Amino acid sequence: MNKHQPALTSIDDALAAILQQAVPVQKVEPVALDQALAKILAQDVFSSIDVPSDNNSAMDGYAVNIDDLANKDLQAHGLAISQRIAAGQAAAPLKAGSCARIFTGAPIPAGANAVAMQEVCERINEKIKFPAQLALNNNIRLAGSDIAKGSRILAKGHHLAPQDLGLLAAIGVQSVNVVASIKVAILATGDELIEPGQALSAGKIYNSNQPMLRALLTKLGAEISYCAVVEDSHAATLAALQQAAASADLVISTGGVSVGEEDHVKACVEQLGQLDVWKLALKPGKPLAFGRLGQTPFFGLPGNPVAVFVTFLLFVRPFIKTLQGANGRPLIVPMRANFTRQKSQVRQEYLRVKVQDNASLDAYPDQNSGVLSSTVWANALALVAPHTSVSEGDFLPTLLFSELLS
Ligand code: AMP
Ligand code: MG
Repeated sequence: MNKHQPALTSIDDALAAILQQAVPVQKVEPVALDQALAKILAQDVFSSIDVPSDNNSAMDGYAVNIDDLANKDLQAHGLAISQRIAAGQAAAPLKAGSCARIFTGAPIPAGANAVAMQEVCERINEKIKFPAQLALNNNIRLAGSDIAKGSRILAKGHHLAPQDLGLLAAIGVQSVNVVASIKVAILATGDELIEPGQALSAGKIYNSNQPMLRALLTKLGAEISYCAVVEDSHAATLAALQQAAASADLVISTGGVSVGEEDHVKACVEQLGQLDVWKLALKPGKPLAFGRLGQTPFFGLPGNPVAVFVTFLLFVRPFIKTLQGANGRPLIVPMRANFTRQKSQVRQEYLRVKVQDNASLDAYPDQNSGVLSSTVWANALALVAPHTSVSEGDFLPTLLFSELLS
């Protein structure tokens, strides 16, 4: 290593320093269930009812008291049907020595303690012959067997997924208290940027970071409060940063964070607040800046879209999760490599990989950090520690997009 170059900062050290600055948002707001997807629960949720609330039938069939099946005469000639109970109806107590026609989801009548599905019963002259043996509670969904009254169904800090909304509705909840949306401002810096829809001209590229960041933030339940493209000048960068900070709980910029003549982010942030710029031991994504604009936290992400994607997932996502009072630590699962790779250098690498059906990993052939297609082909990132080669069959710690992007 060139002795004039400062040592690289490890990912863990940088993340720890960043998360120390994350102060959870205290503001809570009630939202209706149809607005609650991707929000973060601000309190534990307890069930005020049993689910199911009554014993009910898991099958279409006949409800019976199994003691009656021990009666040889009833067993031989069958039991009369004394009532018919469909889902949504109330049941009368079961008349002794009879059975009830019953359908899936219908309440079990008092006095019945098993349901025989219709396929195993025989109907003879309006009577039902049951199988010789029926276990107690056969085909009965017992009250409270899914959710017991008083139990905690969801914990504070939980990121609400579609099935959570189903569960909340199942206990009769109409609205929940969630953490108020984090407001985030996005600045894409660079004179080379033009917007999709415009004609490409010499030296220009389309601004891909902005829509990607918008979507990454939306997935986390954040609200975009300000979004701008900023030319590479001190004045424009300063003005945009000020406007961004005034509108947001968090400001994120892309590009312009190195120390070249066209990179103005560092000087402007230092003018408005304070900034740490790290050379991370991370590939892709070497330069990363974190600081404050006045009191507003600020991330200066690299310009390169692949590096933006990876640094967002590794640093911004946990930061936002912590602001939301949620757990930002990603799930990491070991998966077997189907490929070999030369020894990595001083930086920890996050390879764009695809998890195959048998939980083994293929790697995108071009791992260059300029290749955004790699993130589209991939469905996971596999971690390769510094100075480590990969042989086929090695297990690599892997982060799944299905988890990181939900
Ligand atoms: P910079 O750090 O500003 O030098 O940017 C590094 C690389 O990322 C350059 O090749 C930029 O053209 C590219 N880049 C910066 N911002 C964006 C953007 N919003 N969309 C796509 N590429 C970008
Ligand atoms: Mg630039």
